[in-house]
Amino acid sequence: MFKGIRARLKRLRRRLSPVTETVFETVNIEASGRAVPLRVRRHRRARRIVLRIDGARDEAVLTLPWRVSLREGLAFAHERRDWLQARLAGLPPRIPFGPGAILPLGGIPHVIRHVPERGVIRIEAGEIRVAGKPEHLARRLSDWLKAEAKRTLAPVVEEKALRLGVAVGKITVRDTRTLWGSCSARGDMSLCWRLVLAPPFVADYVCAHEVAHLKIRGHGARFWTLVEDLAEDMEAARAWLARHGEELQRYGRGKSLRGRAVEFRP
Ligand SMILES: [Zn+2]
Repeated sequence: MFKGIRARLKRLRRRLSPVTETVFETVNIEASGRAVPLRVRRHRRARRIVLRIDGARDEAVLTLPWRVSLREGLAFAHERRDWLQARLAGLPPRIPFGPGAILPLGGIPHVIRHVPERGVIRIEAGEIRVAGKPEHLARRLSDWLKAEAKRTLAPVVEEKALRLGVAVGKITVRDTRTLWGSCSARGDMSLCWRLVLAPPFVADYVCAHEVAHLKIRGHGARFWTLVEDLAEDMEAARAWLARHGEELQRYGRGKSLRGRAVEFRP
């Protein structure tokens, strides 16, 4: 009986505690004489150690299940340090928002220009013309792109939801790093603004994927049939994201966001 209460308390505590926790903002591990920055997190629902590259921050991310020790996790990353180093070195270049930079809109390259006048952002002759003070260019462009994403993606979601006969909740546009879209059990949807940079069939697929989740939560065979039905070209879009997704994460990111580094020696 006492045991039963304890188990219930444990379950409750687990439900109340955060899903992820950052253990180290940055640990540096050494690979071929160079430091590989690594962010270490714990995740409630992680079943195994996961190591991935975060192209937005030029660092590796190590996710540990709750029961794996920090020492074990760091040793895991350390064994793969050369692979991490190679992946980081092979990341596409960063393209900060500034005059002369090339930014795709709907997959079509546009040159960013600053125009010394008052007013808004205009798309003209293959250029994104940003008015206002030059020091505000990056900020203004980034705000505009988010608004543009909302303006163009929301109708796609609504049209597909209507076709499927499901109700969609609030649509939010965010700057997400690992997910292009997600949807809550209540039907609220979150989409990455960076999808406006990709060709339209890619954004169309992500919207179709999330709308399909309003009907089917998991990723089973029935789910994929539904997405294929809702999307313009699911296969082409998935292939495009696998190949170019990382590039999308490199736009509008200037200097590194890295925090304080801690050295790691095994
Ligand atoms: Zn999904």
